[in-house]
Amino acid sequence: MDLTTRDGGGRKPPNPSRLIVVTGAGGFIGGHLVKYFYDHGFRNIRAVDKKPFGQWYQCLPQAENLCLDCSLEESCRRICDGATEVFNLAADMGGMGFIERFRVECLRSVLINTHMIEAAHRAGVQRYFFSSSACVYNTQLQQNPKVRPLKESDAYPAMAERGYGWEKLISEMLCQEYCAERGLQTFIARFHNVYGPNGTWDGGREKAPAAVCRKVLEAVDTGIHTIEIWGDGNQSRSFMYIADCVKGIDMIMHSDELIATPVNLGSSELVSINKLVDAVESIAGVNLNRKYDLTAPQGVAGRNSDNTFIQQVLRWEPNTPLIAGLRETYQWIQEQYQKRKKGQLVVA
Ligand code: NAD
Repeated sequence: MDLTTRDGGGRKPPNPSRLIVVTGAGGFIGGHLVKYFYDHGFRNIRAVDKKPFGQWYQCLPQAENLCLDCSLEESCRRICDGATEVFNLAADMGGMGFIERFRVECLRSVLINTHMIEAAHRAGVQRYFFSSSACVYNTQLQQNPKVRPLKESDAYPAMAERGYGWEKLISEMLCQEYCAERGLQTFIARFHNVYGPNGTWDGGREKAPAAVCRKVLEAVDTGIHTIEIWGDGNQSRSFMYIADCVKGIDMIMHSDELIATPVNLGSSELVSINKLVDAVESIAGVNLNRKYDLTAPQGVAGRNSDNTFIQQVLRWEPNTPLIAGLRETYQWIQEQYQKRKKGQLVVA
């Protein structure tokens, strides 16, 4: 990254000596974001998560790593102290199985953004990033697998995903009002399904790409060549590779045109879950029997990202082909799977 010039998207380069805070840093995207900034020359990074360090997917020894709960006001004051930029990625979240089952936990993440944004404002933070989600979009617009891609204005009139989606929508509103009333520069990205190495791949919180990779690995390993698919497999989604996600977060946070303005951050390559399984099978070199569980959680019928706005502002959109990102993801999950089988400790 060139830290000295502005690019075509009206983007301001951050000063690498200033303190950057990343919450949710023990998780998937937060862990990658810390590494991204470190790799780009930033040396003053505070990484925060409530999980014990041993459970972080990535823990950069050069960062100031803190094990703190961001839903507590006092912790948030400590977390934001002296910070110039705050990237708030902490949330209680997971794939469809988790967000349909644990709506209260999802809603309670509103405490995280409530305290983090107030602490950031009080600490005089210059820029505040909030990780929103495509789950804010009106569910009535997503009832067909051949869905029209969702543009930013489709969040209103609001009929978000119960629990998780409503929490994200109200937290977006907090970001917009802290900007309007208190002058805090806030940035809001609506992520569409992110996948890649160093993320949840087992235990109930994993999302479809990781779950499919693990299930294919299990089928190969056990010799039982059957895969269970949630729903009829025709539900469609787009999946963004993690490298695109962290690059997009950086670009959005440093674009003055996007202050307090929600923007989609997702791939526009729409695939059905059946096609996702085809892709993973081709990577693994197998062909499995498919068993469809029509009673399992499956979310909306279709969802895709309309990238007109991000293209217009940043002249860029996530562009890693699904098959390329899946290869990296499959390989990493395979390594974890094999380590665990040998009795080694892995973070799932
Ligand atoms: P993740 O679960 O891997 O990471 C979230 C991290 O937040 C976890 O490590 C968790 O321990 C931490 N956390 C939860 N509550 C906390 C608290 N009170 N204090 C401190 N830490 C806390 O999830 P992720 O995929 O990395 O998601 C990061 C952000 O992006 C979340 O806000 C999520 O809602 C959003 N998002 C993710 C996706 C996706 O596909 N992964 C899609 C849309 C939005």
